[in-house]
Formats: sequence, structure tokens, C-alpha cells
Amino acid sequence: MKDKILEFKEVWKTYGAEKVDALKGINFLFKKNSLNLILGPSGSGKTTLLNIASLIDTPTNGEVIIRGKNTSYLPKPERSKIRKREIGIIYQRENLLPYLNILENTMLPMISPDKEKAIELLKSVDIMDSRKFPEELSTEYEQKAGLARAMINHPSLILADEPTGELDADSTDVLMDLIRDIGDKYTVLMVSNNSDLADYADNLFSIKNGELEKVN
Ligand code: ADP
Ligand code: MG
Repeated sequence: MKDKILEFKEVWKTYGAEKVDALKGINFLFKKNSLNLILGPSGSGKTTLLNIASLIDTPTNGEVIIRGKNTSYLPKPERSKIRKREIGIIYQRENLLPYLNILENTMLPMISPDKEKAIELLKSVDIMDSRKFPEELSTEYEQKAGLARAMINHPSLILADEPTGELDADSTDVLMDLIRDIGDKYTVLMVSNNSDLADYADNLFSIKNGELEKVN
């Protein structure tokens, strides 16, 4: 039970008056300390799936279970609480606020603010000078800082929406090596359209037109 971090049971998402089925009965179970990767083309439902996993959005049907707790019918404040405690998120870009330095950005979501801990964490992702501002960083380092921020509360689940989408091949490898290490200590769910990343995953899935398939 304790090992089950994120489970989707028959999750559907239908958008708007036109009734676009963005997710069509998604099922999976991700266990502790695993790097789970979902690959799919643009428009296949990746961001929709992550927004539901992060409790930002709700499914039209089905259950989203986080550490054994069914979150689907919880009131919004309760869901926000779970999100804050249990989940860290990194996006393709714009993870950081431009008017705060890297340390301040990283500490922003911190539940128990601890500067030394934040500096240590930033060092672990190769950021030695955390007084710099986002605009002084390359995209690679911005993403490293975004990763540190996603980990700051030691969440049980880290969600990543195309975190390498803006990076060249070399920087992609650097970031993926970090995410690979993180996947040994955390549960990571990453979505991407880059099939070169397949080898990094413990569990690989493909998504097409809102339908998920286990690859290996
Ligand atoms: P991906 O992240 O794989 O590119 P998305 O989850 O963003 O895919 O989109 C999946 C499908 O849902 C697409 O057809 C998209 O147009 C549709 N969609 C996404 N968000 C909305 C929304 N807010 N309203 C209506 N349709 C949406
Ligand atoms: Mg997307």
C-alpha cells in the first residue's frame, strides 16, 4: 500500500461543448522510486493527464488515487493541500519568476523555509551561485533550478511536462541524467514528445489520441 504513489483508474477527460475526449479511460499504477515516462505527439493528452495528476484539474470520470487516497471527490482546498505537500511540478519553461533570484524562487513553495537546505539542494543540481536571477541563467540551468524547486518539499510525486522541450541534445542529456538520479529516490511522472528519452525510463508508455499503452 505504502509503495503505491499514483494510480489512475479509468480516468476520462472531456472538454467543452464540443465534447473533445482528451483522455479515454486511462489506467496505471506508479510505485515508489520509479521514473515513469509517457511519450506522445502534440495534442495526444499529455498535459491534460499531468494537470489531472497534479490535482490542478479534475477528471470527467474515474479515480485519481495518491498514496492510497482517492482525490477525485475531495473539495478544492483539500486537493490544494495534497498538491502542496505531495507534488512537485516542472514545466517546459517559465518555472521561475523573473524578479526573484534562484534561491528565492526555489524557496517560494517551501513549507518550512530553510535557506541552508535550499542551497544544498541547488548545489545537488549543479547550481553553485543561487543569488543569480533567472535571466542570467542558460535554459539548461533554468531547468535545473526548476527541478530543485519541484523537489523542495521532498514530495512523493514529481511531475514533469516536457522539461527538456526547450533544450538542445547535450543539455537534454544533462537534465535527463539528473532526472534519472531523482527517479531512484522519488516517483517521477514525465511526459514528452521526444522518443530519444525512452531509455531513461523504468516504465515506458505511449499516448495517442487520449489512449495510453504500456510499452515496457
Ligand atoms: P498534449 O499536451 O499532448 O499536447 P493536451 O493535453 O494539451 O495534449 O491536449 C489534448 C487534447 O485536448 C487536444 O485535442 C487539445 O486540443 C484538447 N484540449 C486541451 N486543453 C483543452 C481545453 N482547455 N479546452 C478544450 N480542449 C482542450
Ligand atoms: Mg502539452
